[in-house]
Amino acid sequence: MTSAITPAPTRAAALARLAEFLPAAGRRYAETRNQDDGPHQHGAYGNVSQLSPWLHAGVIGEADVIEAVLGAHGPRAAEKFIAEVFWRIYFKGYLEQRPAIWVDYCKGRDGAFAAVERNAGIRTAYGEATEGRTGIEAFDVWARELVATGYLHNHARMWFASIWIFTLKLDWRLGADFFLRHLMDGDAASNTLSWRWVAGLHTKGKHYMARADNIARYTAGRPDGALAADGLADHAEPLEEAQDCARQRLDLPAPVASADLVQPFALLLHDEAAHHAPLGPLPAAPALVIGAARPAERSSAKVGTLAHGFAQGTVAGGMAEAAAAYHCPAVEWRSGEPLAPLLAAAGVEHIVLPYLPAGWTRDALWPDLAPLTAQGRVVTIRGDLDRATWPHAKAGFFGVAKAIDGILGECGITGAG
Ligand SMILES: Cc1cc2nc3c(=O)[nH]c(=O)nc-3n(C[C@H](O)[C@H](O)[C@H](O)COP(=O)(O)OP(=O)(O)OC[C@H]3O[C@@H](n4cnc5c(N)ncnc54)[C@H](O)[C@@H]3O)c2cc1C
Repeated sequence: MTSAITPAPTRAAALARLAEFLPAAGRRYAETRNQDDGPHQHGAYGNVSQLSPWLHAGVIGEADVIEAVLGAHGPRAAEKFIAEVFWRIYFKGYLEQRPAIWVDYCKGRDGAFAAVERNAGIRTAYGEATEGRTGIEAFDVWARELVATGYLHNHARMWFASIWIFTLKLDWRLGADFFLRHLMDGDAASNTLSWRWVAGLHTKGKHYMARADNIARYTAGRPDGALAADGLADHAEPLEEAQDCARQRLDLPAPVASADLVQPFALLLHDEAAHHAPLGPLPAAPALVIGAARPAERSSAKVGTLAHGFAQGTVAGGMAEAAAAYHCPAVEWRSGEPLAPLLAAAGVEHIVLPYLPAGWTRDALWPDLAPLTAQGRVVTIRGDLDRATWPHAKAGFFGVAKAIDGILGECGITGAG
């Protein structure tokens, strides 16, 4: 097993990785992105960017990444990479319009954990799967790689989820939880909806079946050679669920003007908006930076060291860099502490809140923010790219895919910047 070299949780490290990967983000990416070549030296895969932990944490923005790739390769050669980044924005927008999917997932996960406690057979199968002891070589390698490195290649995630659901016949919510607890990029939208996609719950009736020949072909470039996957289910019905989650209206905050900001205000950084730079220039400077990292809330079970440490590190680093940029103090809002006394101690009544997306971060922070919001003390900000994309994320990805050129134009992302 290649030892884990944890990416630094800083914006400087994200920008350095972007610069390093940039030459490979055009046609080479389109041709090779499906290969799971495994972690090579420095824990890096050569053919994919591994920018996802920083993108999830909001340390680098999708707009930064697309602008750079478009500038380096032009629209034709950059098309595949840009489309993949839009999958992330699509999943975010989709879950925003169906937040009940996250609520149902959490309930289902807790029910599935109760079944693990109650049932010795399930407990054994779950232990074998998460510890990489199933006897299916490929699956076992990925289970251990996930825990050791905090990352898996996209194709490996698809095969792993498929084997978990259709060969091992384990509850998909337990698998999604295993990913969320260990992926440094663990994301409520991309993870939950991708697992649902593999299961056949996202695109109803269309599921993804992992095949041994496909796995061998696309893992041939791994340091120890192609992975075997004997004994996979070759036929299974897609999962079904009793009810559809109805879509609710998107309630996107309007762009913020300086008149909206009552001075003095605090800027709140969190797990999915850990750095001020991707937020763009604020109309005024904050008097205080508050950092709230809640990685333990990803699950009712213990979160892996790498995922936990990366999230804590991004928020701590983001607080320090924002305080230096705005020449103001920074304070940590710790889990379990009320927010109001922190604000009172600093003599600050108002908060600028980078959008809290559906998921554990909103679940953890909203109870304290809701009363302040009701008193008109919270101004929410949301990036242009999300604002322009989410209205297209109503059903399948196709609705977003066909709008990408228009969205980039609307947001002024041309590759010239
Ligand atoms: C079962 C399953 C679970 C997943 N869970 C997560 C998760 O928790 N968090 C997460 O960020 N992604 C998740 N993904 C999507 C995808 O696997 C990762 O985003 C990607 O592998 C990250 O590696 P990269 O940065 O090298 O991607 P690259 O191929 O370099 O792509 C660039 C960026 O585009 C975005 N992206 C690429 N592919 C996808 C995709 N299929 N869906 C959504 N965004 C994409 C990511 O932000 C990524 O960093 C999951 C996919 C599956 C099949």
